[in-house]
Amino acid sequence: MNKREFLKTAAALVAGSVLKLVARSETAAATPRTNWAGNLTYSTSNLQTPATLDEVRAAVKSASRLRALGSRHSFNAIADSTHEQISLAQLKEMTLDETAHTVTVGGGVTYAELAPWLDAKGYALHNLASLPGITVAGACATATHGSGLHNGNLATAVAAVELVTADGGLVELKRERDGEQFLGAVVGLGAMGVVTRTTLDVQPTYKVAQAVYQGLSFEELGKHFEEIFASGYSVSVFTDWQNRRAEQMWVKRRLKEGDANQWAPEIYGAKLAKEKLHPLAGHPTENVTDQLGIPGPWYDRLPHFRIGQTPSGGNELQTEYLVPWASGWEAVLAVEKLREKIGPHILITELRTIAADRLWMSTAYQRASLAIHFTWKPQWPEVRQVLPLIEAQLRPFHPRPHWGKLFTLQAAQLEPCYSQLPIFRALAARYDPEGKFRNAFVRANLY
Ligand SMILES: Cc1cc2nc3c(=O)[nH]c(=O)nc-3n(C[C@H](O)[C@H](O)[C@H](O)COP(=O)(O)OP(=O)(O)OC[C@H]3O[C@@H](n4cnc5c(N)ncnc54)[C@H](O)[C@@H]3O)c2cc1C
Repeated sequence: MNKREFLKTAAALVAGSVLKLVARSETAAATPRTNWAGNLTYSTSNLQTPATLDEVRAAVKSASRLRALGSRHSFNAIADSTHEQISLAQLKEMTLDETAHTVTVGGGVTYAELAPWLDAKGYALHNLASLPGITVAGACATATHGSGLHNGNLATAVAAVELVTADGGLVELKRERDGEQFLGAVVGLGAMGVVTRTTLDVQPTYKVAQAVYQGLSFEELGKHFEEIFASGYSVSVFTDWQNRRAEQMWVKRRLKEGDANQWAPEIYGAKLAKEKLHPLAGHPTENVTDQLGIPGPWYDRLPHFRIGQTPSGGNELQTEYLVPWASGWEAVLAVEKLREKIGPHILITELRTIAADRLWMSTAYQRASLAIHFTWKPQWPEVRQVLPLIEAQLRPFHPRPHWGKLFTLQAAQLEPCYSQLPIFRALAARYDPEGKFRNAFVRANLY
């Protein structure tokens, strides 16, 4: 299959949605607009790029159907629209409130823009995803996460959101003031409105050092699952599911003043790496953040990939399921039974942990979680056959798929995982009575 056919097929089949390929309008651009990975061609060429809040409000008011678009890093059709998309890439305001310990960012700001700016002012966020180049609004909308037993996902740092509702109205929701509505709107999946400003909690800046350990056997991983994930502020374990072992274990530690910053030469049989490693064999290590225990700013260690460099591999697909932390190892073993089916298509799996939260549609809602992530070769027809097998193995653990990655679970299987879904729909109906923000992905997976 050539690239064009691949893009078309993936767009049509993506993520259990009933996305249909639409006839391209006469105004369609010559170059198709795709997501970051290139596996999805957006179904409209109609992209609004307002420069001010008033222009956002006017664009939303006049649209018949509309989806907000962030930095296009989702792998499924969650940001797609057959009518109009709106990008807030021009809304780049960043305002620090040192009394409230918060920063407020415009809808187009990415973590790559925010983090160094914040650090230069002496502040930090509690965590970051593996890559910094995603928008704050888009990441929080899908409950994007990093790792850490005590770290909530990125949306848990949200203290307030401002959104433009379907009629062009402006709503501000604050954590301290708006209780349930706030908890429902933060992981909004783009269904509540267009987020024009997000206010995040900040803390004094800190340094992080990371080191990589190689060759962790599944036997030791299973025996010391909790200790291994507790061995750093943020820990990631990488495996390709072959040979009952994890190739790499990335440990990120927050350094305190006077910290000796010493790294054991071995953890449970895994050896401290002596040179920098990429999670994907053969990929350039210039792209990854410094390892070898070298201290650095939080924003240049918590993500795996450096600002301005290609994250991950680029030519890939991604899937991720969150399961209860308490049965995390059992879930890993259930997936491992499929190693022969997974093997030909996997680039790498990453295991991470996320603290429980109270955000209604968060994948970690009231559930401390283990995230089992898959970076796949760009082979959607084959990967699409494997996903239902993984989902069947994970069924006893009530898996919650990452909202921005590929999955084939149906709405009937998602519904029992989200007890607040009925009131989420009711809240969305309040801001968007006619379903202006409801695209095929939202309809297929939430309705
Ligand atoms: C290489 C790579 C690495 C990744 N690593 C991680 C990781 O470490 N952890 C993790 O959890 N995920 C990870 N992801 C997934 C990614 O974080 C999510 O898909 C995230 O939602 C992408 O944000 P975005 O800005 O690209 O938004 P988009 O993908 O463009 O949109 C995502 C959703 O946000 C909504 N949205 C965007 N902007 C707004 C707005 N202003 N108002 C309302 N809704 C809005 C969209 O409508 C859509 O529903 C990774 C993805 C890639 C490609």
